Amino acid sequence: MIHKTLWIVYIETGDSCLVAMSDIYTHNLGYPRIGQQRELKKATEAYWHGRLTREDLEATGRRLRQQNWATQQAAGMDLIPCNDFTFYDQTLDFSCLIGNVPPRFGWKGEEMDLDTLFLMARGSRGEAHDACDHGCSHQPVFACEMTKWFDTNYHYIVPEFRANTQFKLVGDKVFREFEEAKALGYRSKPVLPGPVTYLSLGKVQDSTNPDFDRFSLLDGLLDVYEQILQRLQRLGAEWVQIDEPIFGLDLSEAQRDAVLVAWQRLAQAAPGLKILVTSYFSELRENLPLFLSLPAQAVHFDAVRGVGELDALLAGFPSDKILSLGVVDGRNIWKNDFSASLKILAEAQAVVGSERLWVAPSCSLQHSPITLVNEPSLDTELRGWMSFADEKLEEVATLSGLLRGTADQSLLWGNQQSLQARRESSRIHRVEVKTRLAGVHASDYDRVSPFAQRQPLQRKKLKLPEFPTTTIGSFPQTAEVRAMRARWKKGELSTEAYEVFLQHEIQHCVSFQDEIGIDMPVHGEFERNDMVEYFGEQLDGFVFTQNGWVQSYGSRYVKPPIIFGDVSRPVPMTVRWSQYAQSLTPRPMKGMLTGPVTILQWSFVRDDQPRSETTRQIALAIRDEVLDLETAGIAAIQIDEPAIREGLPLRHSDWATYLDWAVNAFRLCASGVRDDTQIHTHMCYSEFNDIIESIAAMDADVITIETSRSNMELLEAFVDFKYPNEIGPGVYDIHSPRVPGVEEMVALMHKAEAVIPRAQLWINPDCGLKTRGWVEVKSSLLHMVEAARQLRADK
Ligand code: GLN
Ligand code: ZN
Repeated sequence: MIHKTLWIVYIETGDSCLVAMSDIYTHNLGYPRIGQQRELKKATEAYWHGRLTREDLEATGRRLRQQNWATQQAAGMDLIPCNDFTFYDQTLDFSCLIGNVPPRFGWKGEEMDLDTLFLMARGSRGEAHDACDHGCSHQPVFACEMTKWFDTNYHYIVPEFRANTQFKLVGDKVFREFEEAKALGYRSKPVLPGPVTYLSLGKVQDSTNPDFDRFSLLDGLLDVYEQILQRLQRLGAEWVQIDEPIFGLDLSEAQRDAVLVAWQRLAQAAPGLKILVTSYFSELRENLPLFLSLPAQAVHFDAVRGVGELDALLAGFPSDKILSLGVVDGRNIWKNDFSASLKILAEAQAVVGSERLWVAPSCSLQHSPITLVNEPSLDTELRGWMSFADEKLEEVATLSGLLRGTADQSLLWGNQQSLQARRESSRIHRVEVKTRLAGVHASDYDRVSPFAQRQPLQRKKLKLPEFPTTTIGSFPQTAEVRAMRARWKKGELSTEAYEVFLQHEIQHCVSFQDEIGIDMPVHGEFERNDMVEYFGEQLDGFVFTQNGWVQSYGSRYVKPPIIFGDVSRPVPMTVRWSQYAQSLTPRPMKGMLTGPVTILQWSFVRDDQPRSETTRQIALAIRDEVLDLETAGIAAIQIDEPAIREGLPLRHSDWATYLDWAVNAFRLCASGVRDDTQIHTHMCYSEFNDIIESIAAMDADVITIETSRSNMELLEAFVDFKYPNEIGPGVYDIHSPRVPGVEEMVALMHKAEAVIPRAQLWINPDCGLKTRGWVEVKSSLLHMVEAARQLRADK
């Protein structure tokens, strides 16, 4: 138990309210808002579908906030965040707070409401809605873009900026939440994105002023920040947390200038309000002096990712600031190493003193699952090594207590024993995996012959026409497919019955492709819940939670696998399905695997060895599968790597190292096959300009990419590079139920053919079809095959 000391009561000048203050030792930067039972998802989706009233939705939000504050308080946090809750995304909340609503949403510029926020997040399909009694059909309005929040798997709604963008304080969410917490007796600090981070992460969307400088909006933005801070001060806020994670990236001169201007004004806006500025996810490197010079009362530093620059931080740490050290990793699920953290904290304490040192998680806990309490079936040994958000808060409190001598030393002892057990566990360390990895030879990364020699051999074997047609792998995961899998998982359906069902689905899928004339069919991936989970469940070294959900965006949550130990593949994972599918058709069936980098990126990864090492282990497991597929007579094998790009480090100077091991991992899993076996890879939502060399170095015989939405723009990188291997630029936008016409696809391929030799081109959709319905898929693929016929005829 941490005991609270030193209650000081002081009177704020210029304000009559009395504020009780105690010392702050611990705080949290943000807490998961989704609810232990995914209450937020259920409520927002019910509201969108008209099954829940606005009042009930708001009530769910209030309940979640109250629970979250109570949990954090009970865990011993001296200062807890507010305004970290959101019905969709906190960056979008901020856009709404300051009235930054793009004109296409028709917002009148007055009060902000939740429906405008949801419209920005989700767009509208343009159907007539109830509010229109004359039954008119509204124009569809496209949603704001969303993109990944730094190197997390969380996606934020991208703010848009125009030359005539004007900011105005129109929302009140942050004030309401602060008052709500205060009324419940919580000492909370409102969380806001920093002005430079907000401007930097948005995009300029102004066709009439394409060269307009977003930082010209800074002054107007700061006017609104001033109003926000002043109002928070009036409401009795003592601290505000301003997040500037942009400090973890390469900063331009314009950004640095903006920092200076912005922070001077923020510091002066509300003299009675203290500011905690945070950075996280990265080292600060050359940005460290600028960060430390910010005129804020407290500075938060990610001591997990930034551990290597702790000495530099302490050496230059200003004598008048509080240092918040994020020693508990908010980005992973492993138990904290108390002795390592205490060493860091003690070093800091020696420099800044106890009163100026706060203990915290490294970043917001929104990136962690909520609690281990809801994992009763998790293997107890493995569970003992883990820590989710609630456990992390306990760790923060315990570390602070141990540091200050108020916590029981046995907690340190217990922690060390647990870590020791993990380090030595035979569950993690598998001699045969390590030996095999050590025996990997340089030649294992190379195909037998270069592409130019492989291509004719593959042509001879596969006998494909010009513009071969294929798909990316999955076919519609209908309600029936999902229901059957759920019943099988619950034990309500026997394995035998489930497999018969899967065979039927495959039969139907293959015969459809045969009928319409898809040149390289697939089996349809009906047996897969998810492209990573399916493999993780069959590989050794992975474990799965029951309730370890983390928000990906809006109401979409993911439950990442946990890679805890050395990875290996006990038995083939996909061979029987591919082989069965191949038995149904004379055409070459494409085998379908997920690549090592994507498996890594979408999992919680062990922290006791470099990520590159874990990836190499996965690569060897996939290599075994590739070879087994080849032996089973599968002549083309696709290894999906959609997450290669998103794995890029935050700093440019770290890219080369990452790309090197990521590309090598792919080559390791793909290179064991004969020359006449065709290796495909697939990447979606990716830009290629700055990584094209690495994409080419993967040396896949065929790459399929998502290009239809960008009107083939994404192909340019391949053209400029003179990409030598074959390529399938997507002609069918699978994000939409719309059926593309034949002419449209032909036109897209004409664009491609103008810049890439036709002998190199394939025709395929942008990505898998699992979220689509059969009716649209049938028409769209029929059109795609017809487009290929016309292109072939048109020499
Ligand atoms: N093969 C996978 C599918 O078709 C690929 C999915 C992806 O790229 N995200 O669903
Ligand atoms: Zn894809």
